Amino acid sequence: MKRPELITIVGAGLVGSLLGVMLGKRGYRVQIFEHRPDMRGQHVAAGKSINLALAERGIHALKQAGLMEAVQPLLIPMRGRMLHDVDGRTEFQAYGQRPHEVIYSVSRSGLNELMLTAAEDSKRVEVLFEHELDSIDFDSNTIHLTDMKNSNPIAVTAELLIGADGAGSRVRRSLLPFVNGLDRSELLDHDYKELTIPPNAQGLHQIDRESLHIWPRGGYMLIALPNLDGSFTVTLFLQKQGTPSFAELDDRQSVQDFFSRQFPDAMELIPNLADEFFENPTGILGTVRCDPWIDQDCVMLIGDASHAIVPFHGQGMNAGFEDCELLVGLLDQFQDDWSSAMQEFNRSRPADAEAIADMALENYITMRDSVLDPRFGLKKKLGFQLELAYPAQFIPRYSMVMFHRIPYSQAKQRGVIQQGILDELTVGVDSIDQVDMLRAGQLVQQRLELLSDSKSG
Ligand SMILES: Cc1cc2nc3c(=O)[nH]c(=O)nc-3n(C[C@H](O)[C@H](O)[C@H](O)COP(=O)(O)OP(=O)(O)OC[C@H]3O[C@@H](n4cnc5c(N)ncnc54)[C@H](O)[C@@H]3O)c2cc1C
Repeated sequence: MKRPELITIVGAGLVGSLLGVMLGKRGYRVQIFEHRPDMRGQHVAAGKSINLALAERGIHALKQAGLMEAVQPLLIPMRGRMLHDVDGRTEFQAYGQRPHEVIYSVSRSGLNELMLTAAEDSKRVEVLFEHELDSIDFDSNTIHLTDMKNSNPIAVTAELLIGADGAGSRVRRSLLPFVNGLDRSELLDHDYKELTIPPNAQGLHQIDRESLHIWPRGGYMLIALPNLDGSFTVTLFLQKQGTPSFAELDDRQSVQDFFSRQFPDAMELIPNLADEFFENPTGILGTVRCDPWIDQDCVMLIGDASHAIVPFHGQGMNAGFEDCELLVGLLDQFQDDWSSAMQEFNRSRPADAEAIADMALENYITMRDSVLDPRFGLKKKLGFQLELAYPAQFIPRYSMVMFHRIPYSQAKQRGVIQQGILDELTVGVDSIDQVDMLRAGQLVQQRLELLSDSKSG
């Protein structure tokens, strides 16, 4: 395929705008259609979570795009989980064991706005807000949109169309039937609701600023991530139906009773609990798995449009940013032959998307339940020790996902082997000094190949 004159992206969310920056830098002319109004300079909800966790894969992609210096002031490091029990006792569990092994809370709208401006500053990227994609005519490479400012329909020829239009992607929904593809998307039976812990009278955070706070309650949980203005965005994850459930929390009293029973310390810090609970939308969660992600050399999906995941590993955006970096790497490799780059992306990337989708689902159980188990703590400690002793072989799975760029599929595969080693070494053991470290070394050498990947560091 010859170098496209103009690339059309649908969706100027996190992934569409980063891809715009990267393609603009590469010298492409890009047009992005976004159905929301321009969020800059006005209060427009960014949709989904107010803030989110940025980790190594996302950071690396932002560096490649030349944006990391500008993003830095938006970040708050989160060094570990702060667990809150029902009696208000807290326990801190570090995420990593080296100073740089932290994740960062970042404002979704702050990051999105910064990337939109960087894309437009390149002068090669045009973002058309309030333009909603309605349908695609694949035979004539035409997309049909509505200009929402005046409700006028418009038709645009799209030589190369990239769907970065998120989990509910209309590009995906049009593409898959056209190519006889497969959509195995699934909704989770848990929803979420965002609430706020405001800053104190001095404008400071009321709970530890550099932690991701979790109130794990077995089948459900509350979490809180810090914002730069001293507030925390709190999210309740809870099943839709059953006991307890969103269905049961149907009036102010039931919400207050539930929080005072389950999250009394958090409740004290959320002054507008019942108001916010009923004013803020209840969000749905799900996993998108589909095949293929491309049609020939003229349409492709990226980010949540092809592989949305549940948020429990804090990796959806990070994975989408990694997509952008991988795609640009493939354009390097194939000298901007889009056809080859897209085919290779469609061949190699889905296995990693599948792996992080699975790990994100598993991590919900870890966050809401397993973190409370003393054996989880013991295995985490042992995992850290093994990492120190065998850094080129044993890296805890959480660290492989969050602090490294080891392909997700490899992280998942090695994670299973490592879990087996940890399980075996901790049978009948109550503390770390009872672990047979000689045997540990043998198991690591026998079962884990050396990490050869340059992305492991
Ligand atoms: C509660 C929650 C917490 C999360 N926390 C994290 C986290 O901590 N870390 C992390 O890495 N990820 C997290 N994620 C995942 C992350 O939000 C997504 O992976 C990320 O937003 C994907 O970016 P995207 O650009 O692909 O899609 P989106 O951000 O959904 O952007 C899609 C864009 O397309 C536009 N659009 C949609 N349809 C059309 C149309 N028909 N026409 C024109 N425009 C359209 C939308 O308006 C939007 O701007 C979280 C998600 C949720 C729900």
